[in-house]
Amino acid sequence: MLRRRLTINGIVQGVGFRPFIYSLARDIGLVGSVYNTSDGVKVEVQGNLPQLEQFESRLHSEAPPLSTIISVEMEDIPTRDDSEFTIVSSHDNASVSTLISPDVALCDDCKAELFDNKDRRYRYPFINCTNCGPRYTIIEDIPYDRPFTSMKHFPLCETCHAEYQNPQDRRFHAQPNACPACGPQVWITDHSGKKIESTDPVSKTIELLVEGKILAIKGLGGFHLAVDATNADAVARLRLTKGRDEKPLALMVRDIDAAQQLVDINPDERATLLSIQAPIVLCTSKENTKTAQNIAPGNDRLGIMLPYTPLHHLLLSEKLDTLVMTSANFSEEPICIDNDEALDRLSGLADYFLLHNRDIYLRSDDSVVMEMSGEIRPLRRSRGFAPRPLFMQKKGQSVLAVGGELKNVIGLSKDEKIFLSQHIGDLENLEAFEFFQMTIDHIQQIFEIEPELIIHDLHPEYLSTKWAKDHSIPLLGVQHHHAHLASCMAENNLDEPVIGIIMDGTGYGTDGTIWGGEFLIGDASGFERKTHFEPMPLPGGEAAIKSPWRIGLSYLHHVFGNNLPKIPAFKDREIQPILKMLEANINSPLTSSCGRLFDAVAALSGGRQEIRYEAQAAIEFMQAARNELGTDSSLFESSNINGTNIITMNSIIENLVSRIRDGKDQVKLSQWFHSSLVNTFSHMTDILREESGIDRVVLSGGVFQNRLLFESLLEKLETAGYKVYTHKQVPTNDGGIALGQVIIGQNYLRK
Ligand code: ZN
Ligand code: ZN
Ligand code: FE
Repeated sequence: MLRRRLTINGIVQGVGFRPFIYSLARDIGLVGSVYNTSDGVKVEVQGNLPQLEQFESRLHSEAPPLSTIISVEMEDIPTRDDSEFTIVSSHDNASVSTLISPDVALCDDCKAELFDNKDRRYRYPFINCTNCGPRYTIIEDIPYDRPFTSMKHFPLCETCHAEYQNPQDRRFHAQPNACPACGPQVWITDHSGKKIESTDPVSKTIELLVEGKILAIKGLGGFHLAVDATNADAVARLRLTKGRDEKPLALMVRDIDAAQQLVDINPDERATLLSIQAPIVLCTSKENTKTAQNIAPGNDRLGIMLPYTPLHHLLLSEKLDTLVMTSANFSEEPICIDNDEALDRLSGLADYFLLHNRDIYLRSDDSVVMEMSGEIRPLRRSRGFAPRPLFMQKKGQSVLAVGGELKNVIGLSKDEKIFLSQHIGDLENLEAFEFFQMTIDHIQQIFEIEPELIIHDLHPEYLSTKWAKDHSIPLLGVQHHHAHLASCMAENNLDEPVIGIIMDGTGYGTDGTIWGGEFLIGDASGFERKTHFEPMPLPGGEAAIKSPWRIGLSYLHHVFGNNLPKIPAFKDREIQPILKMLEANINSPLTSSCGRLFDAVAALSGGRQEIRYEAQAAIEFMQAARNELGTDSSLFESSNINGTNIITMNSIIENLVSRIRDGKDQVKLSQWFHSSLVNTFSHMTDILREESGIDRVVLSGGVFQNRLLFESLLEKLETAGYKVYTHKQVPTNDGGIALGQVIIGQNYLRK
């Protein structure tokens, strides 16, 4: 007879972990107990050696879906005369080291009860259990206990309380546990906030949607605006009121079968759609679907998600099987979460509101992922993922990384864990900036983190930089693309220096110009800028980003001066004012950005001249290539200036213009350009490998959301014998830079 004490760390509270241990121990015939302490969950098990070994192996293989075991420490202790296995209730301070689970999709057991007319929670929109439901978004403070969540307003009824107390029940210690008798409720109002009397607000909502109305629907991490996806007029009205004229809208579909009517779904995408995170997956659209044509105009992908709350399942179970579900906000403001705030901010957007009285404490947008090169990759890591930490191999000091400006995400570290926040958004607007500050406070509080250093971007005008400088904690400024490089290194557990191919939109360089098409060699302690595109003037600064033709004109002017070739796409353009601006060098900052090069080439090739959403020109130009590289391919020239290789613009633009003169269409031009970039990038990497002997390459930066470029370059480099590392846990865009900032900051403190 042996007795062992196991100390288990990880996401092991509020996820059904103690009932799981209880059932497992009893199943094997062990006696002992399980209890929470500030060091983690402790289990004492007593039995013979084979029994203990079975327990230790099944502990890992059968752990509950929401739990994550990071470490198990074991020690032998003297046996005792227990007669059974028990759960010892928590003491004070027991949740100190708890990791909080993200919010997760409705589980199958709860879904079955939801549609079972004999169940006491039949059609109850807030059904949940220890394996599913809200977590992070309803937590106000620690420990994770009902009084510290937005469920505090709903005292449990007797039946719910009994479930909550019963270790053998699926709802044992499920903090959001509720039923129609004791829990939150839904109701409908018109756009002015006047309640619409209805015995069944969910059915009423469906009716209104079928009529073509716009509904603001309160969900898990915020409000959505919903319309019937088959109703083009309703979609058009939604676009008009939301001020979003062309950007693709996400869809929520009833189930996988309904999704397959709209898009192609491979096995990984299918598993991701059905996963407990239930993100939006960008899948390839099928032709001639029944959904309105104005959902994703000019885009060959559709963002699809499955219902993830009971309310969503109810809404999609009857007449409707596909809804547009877009974050309820004006353009880039953060998603609405509060009833009054929603009625105030959205009354001009929505015809009706489906509200409920379970408060959302912390907003969390839908996550977005896309498959590339056989891996599912996040483009926005938010609901379902945050605040699950990334676990590093070594411990580091606690630091705060404030991220960038657009797609802001903040990072906080503690020991070997790095907590990345949900998507905060573009800090330019006041609401997002307030949300940014609140999220920093909240994560520090619920994970008890006191940062010793704040890491910010070098850009002096970023609001995150300014915020950092207002604090009395020591600061470290980190170059934007160095953070991209370190981010990709961190998630791949790399320490040794790498070649970083960082292809990006905008990032402040150490020389005060805008960078974004960079080959860096470096690691967490520093970097050298080894290769980059020749910097080009951006007429009108950041404003030019909305007008790719201006960027095209600037690049053309740089190469041809006053002998401008005739470009069909610019036939009716007023080019003189821009040329004057360039000649006088007024408000024309220099950039080596690869994103801007794409804008220029797309515009010159006859693609988008003006854009309606971020990267639209580059996305449409990539699509024009129909996922094929050209057999026609150039190797762009470079010159070495003081040890730095500069890819010259003359060689790119002259090659392009000669093909435009030959009458090549956009399809051919795009195929040629992509293939030339792949060629040139791999050639420049060869030069760096020869020089440095380094064969590890990381790919990062927003441009690598371009599937054709990413997949082709990855394949070419791997064929050439490189070890290539890419993003799978955090976005390749600026949503990933906080991770790199944390790593660089921790490394700085170590020295
Ligand atoms: Zn459940
Ligand atoms: Zn109840
Ligand atoms: Fe970036």
